[in-house]
Amino acid sequence: MTEASAAETLGFQTEAKKLLQLMINSLYSNREIFLRELISNASDAIDKLRFEALADDALLAGGPDFRIRVEFDKDAKTLSVSDNGVGMTRDEVVANLGTIAKSGTAEFLERLTGDQKGDATLIGQFGVGFYSAFIVAKEVEVLTRRAGQEAGVRWSSQGEESFTVEDAEGLARGTKVTLTLKDDAEEFADGFRLRSIVRQYSDHIGVPVEMPKEGDAEEGEPEFESVNSAKALWTRSRSEIDDDEYREFYRHVSHDFEDPLVWSHNRVEGKLEYTSLVYVPKRAPYDLWNREAPRGVKLYVQRVFIMDEADEFLPLYLRFVRGVVDCSDLPLNISREILQKDERTRTIRNALTRRVLDTLGKLEAEQYGEFWDEFGQVLKEGVAEDFANKETLLKLLRFASTHDEEASQRISLADYVGRMGEGQDRIYYLIAESDSAARQSPHLEVFRARGIEVLLLTDRIDEWFMSFAGEFDGREFQDVTRGELDLDKVEEAAEEGEEESKDEEDDALATRVKEALGERVNEVRRSKRLTDSPACLVLGEHDMGLQMRRIMEAAGQSAPESKPDFEINADHPLILRLDAEPDEDRFGDLVSILFDQAALAEGNGIEQPGAYVRRINDLLVELLG
Ligand code: ADP
Repeated sequence: MTEASAAETLGFQTEAKKLLQLMINSLYSNREIFLRELISNASDAIDKLRFEALADDALLAGGPDFRIRVEFDKDAKTLSVSDNGVGMTRDEVVANLGTIAKSGTAEFLERLTGDQKGDATLIGQFGVGFYSAFIVAKEVEVLTRRAGQEAGVRWSSQGEESFTVEDAEGLARGTKVTLTLKDDAEEFADGFRLRSIVRQYSDHIGVPVEMPKEGDAEEGEPEFESVNSAKALWTRSRSEIDDDEYREFYRHVSHDFEDPLVWSHNRVEGKLEYTSLVYVPKRAPYDLWNREAPRGVKLYVQRVFIMDEADEFLPLYLRFVRGVVDCSDLPLNISREILQKDERTRTIRNALTRRVLDTLGKLEAEQYGEFWDEFGQVLKEGVAEDFANKETLLKLLRFASTHDEEASQRISLADYVGRMGEGQDRIYYLIAESDSAARQSPHLEVFRARGIEVLLLTDRIDEWFMSFAGEFDGREFQDVTRGELDLDKVEEAAEEGEEESKDEEDDALATRVKEALGERVNEVRRSKRLTDSPACLVLGEHDMGLQMRRIMEAAGQSAPESKPDFEINADHPLILRLDAEPDEDRFGDLVSILFDQAALAEGNGIEQPGAYVRRINDLLVELLG
């Protein structure tokens, strides 16, 4: 015997152990799902072998007919799920059934709260898989032999600290998972119960799920019959499939535990023939922001499984979409490299993208709101990355707004344009760190005063994607913190003549302020933005905003230098008093304070906080006498 053939006892990876424990607690009320998970794995294993056999049909030696079997023994209180799929080698068994390879598991587990209901949904989206067997089993045994290999392996565990692996002889190809049921789970060693679970959860599986014929004689090999319809769901016609079947199939392809939000199933005929069934999940996966996380659909060619995570069929910003593409025109031996270059891939990708966007566009407001809360930020990436669908994507965006005190992002651009006043030709928006920071911004004052709506953007990616937005419905977007604002067209200023003369007077003050601030500002001018605040900072039309600066700095890059304009509110009592200050030093101090405060109101840091505090303190001392 070689060393590897000896029995070994190995510890579960810490994450695996934790997940196992949590799953047993939180999924208790829905425990029959273990069977669905085991059958789903068996079906994947058969898909994999069918694919490998395309290149090497010797792998099918001993049985080309694929099937999954569910057997039970009432007396022994056992239950097994076996498949004649690809099986596992000893190394694969150790890696797959002892550790959780998914990246981000540790972070995920940290988010669990100990609250059963919350944890159940979180665990659900993580995918429960093989370990769910331990919800009902006190012991699990896996016998498996990799297709094309002689040696088999036995894995067993009681689901606590460790598992044992050893060599096993004389196994059939594929995998047999046997559960010794816990005392309170004996109900699952029952034909009627098992059949009904298989029909409910696994009807859509594309291979037969067989069970011993009912009322079979005790002795001899039992005869088996198929208990599911064994037809891959997407190959059936839409009118034959009910919603529950669509939902169950979703769980199989996505490993999600929850229902999907919406799906779209289509057969395309003509020059290129394919069927697609794509789902939008209800909840964003915990690894949505991990750009390396698995994504994409399952690819089948003529119903033969070819690959998981075929991400060539959807753009990155639709990475949350799950499902299947089955194309009869692609070659069975297609590789990822060829797929990437294939013209047909691009055709399907374009059509699928439009289909998903179309499906989203048709959702009812409430459902769409649910979608937006989970995936809105990702969709924004599309505005920057998918020029062809920009208009459609812009329609799908939702915003918070000054006309909507709820802070919920529910205003569409169409809503906004529909409410625009006479003469308004731009879509105004403001980007800030948070909703409350946005609502307190001095830049909104004139808009409030004139009743003009401003969209409030607070996502990290907003400044970046808005730089690609351009216009919507022929209206340009305008960041209210940038450039010289001219709202006069929107509301004709009645006392124009009077304002002119005032403008000239202010120029003298503006020049004095500019002299005091020197290189800290680009330009000083009288503000058309402010009604309540004495002053504010304004960015140049093409300067980098605070949000992008922070992102660049976080990435260790230095953001380009730029100087703001400084706008003063000539009607504000502080500015009026300032104007009358004869002492230039004191004037300079006061202007510095105003400038620093304007920076603070933007959410910026100030250059010399110590000097600012000293100036304020001097004023306080004076005030308190
Ligand atoms: P998932 O199916 O989400 O990857 P599981 O915990 O259910 O997670 O399974 C882990 C891995 O174990 C699978 O990815 C697969 O490689 C392997 N596996 C599980 N069941 C089988 C089976 N019946 N036949 C072959 N491999 C299996």
